[in-house]
Order: sequence, then C-alpha cells, then structure tokens
Amino acid sequence: MKRICVFAGSNAGLHPEYEQKAAELGHLLAQKGMELVYGGSKIGLMGRVADHVLQEGGKAIGVMPRNLFRGEMAHTGLTELHEVANMHERKAMMSDLSDGFIALPGGYGTFEELFEVISWSQLGIHSKPVGILNIRGYYDPLVDMVKNAVAAGFMPETHLQLLIVESEPDLLLERMAQYTPPAYAHKWAELPEQ
Ligand code: AMP
Repeated sequence: MKRICVFAGSNAGLHPEYEQKAAELGHLLAQKGMELVYGGSKIGLMGRVADHVLQEGGKAIGVMPRNLFRGEMAHTGLTELHEVANMHERKAMMSDLSDGFIALPGGYGTFEELFEVISWSQLGIHSKPVGILNIRGYYDPLVDMVKNAVAAGFMPETHLQLLIVESEPDLLLERMAQYTPPAYAHKWAELPEQ
C-alpha cells in the first residue's frame, strides 16, 4: 500500500486519546513511506493526522471541493492540494488515488465516506482494504449494527470480513497489508447464484 485515504472528523473529539492515536497513525504512515490522502482541511481530527504526517517528513495530499468549505479551512502546508468541482468528484479522486481506506472517529461525513467505500467493496467495484481505527471503542456500536444486519438477514456473514477493525494503528496497518478480499457470498438471497 503506497497511499492511504483517511476519513476523520472535522472536529477533534473531546477525549485527548483521539488526537494521540491520530498522531500515532500519522507518524507511522510517514515512517513507512506511505502517503496520506484526505479531505484537505486543517481542522479537526483530519487536520491533525495531516499535521503529524508532515511533521514526520511524510507526504499529505488533500482533495477539496471548490466553494464548499470556508477558504481558511484548507491546510496550507500540504504536499499537494487538489481542487475539484464537487463532493462526488472529490470522493472519486480520493478513492482512485488510494490503495486502502481508514476511518477514524468522526460524524456523518466520516460515516458516509466509510460506508461508501465498504459498499463499493461488497459490490466488487474495488478490492482495497477498508479499516476502522477504533479509538476508545468509538465504533463498537457501529460494528454491533453491522452484526445486527447479518443477524436480521440483510447481509451475508462473509461480508463482515470486508471491515478490518483494530484499536492500534500499527496492527491496523499490518492487517490491511495482509488483506485479501473474501470469497464473496451470494449477496442477494432472492436471486439465483450465477
Ligand atoms: P464529519 O465526520 O461529519 O466531521 O465529516 C468529516 C469528513 O467529511 C471528512 O473525512 C471530510 O472528507 C469531509 N469534511 C467535513 N468537513 C470538512 C471540512 N471542513 N473540510 C474538508 N472536508 C470536510
């Protein structure tokens, strides 16, 4: 994996551990020579990851839609900052540039980005690893919800393997590096297998 796309909150969260682990991830990416691809802002947990990648001598690439976020939010120290027309172009570019995806704690924006790449994964649109850095168990309720979807018959159990969940950045990157897509179970229970 050469480039990792990170989705993370535009707020930093209330507990210092969110930022500590974001910093650890940023340092690790730089030390391993992996480039960061992300939303391009200097604010929130997303901005902290970029700061720590850059501090450690790594490369950070931002992708921002024009005229959507206030200008002062853009990170001015990035290796590259791409401006695109809208959110759709932004997500397509972030995805094309990256070899894997990691979600850190965040809100609706982060959830949406995570679920888009994971749903593209289950449709076979890409076969890149998708990880969650589960700092302080932040994502436990979301993991439970996904298990609930399996238990209620809305998702094949094998699709749980599409999501790699770890609370330590080094373990998460290790598991993502070893990732091979699961043999997909038949997704649509009402249609015959082909
Ligand atoms: P949220 O989790 O709702 O704070 O949204 C964070 C995600 O949405 C990030 O991964 C970004 O891609 C995008 N996003 C939200 N706010 C901003 C912002 N001010 N600048 C850049 N991207 C943002």
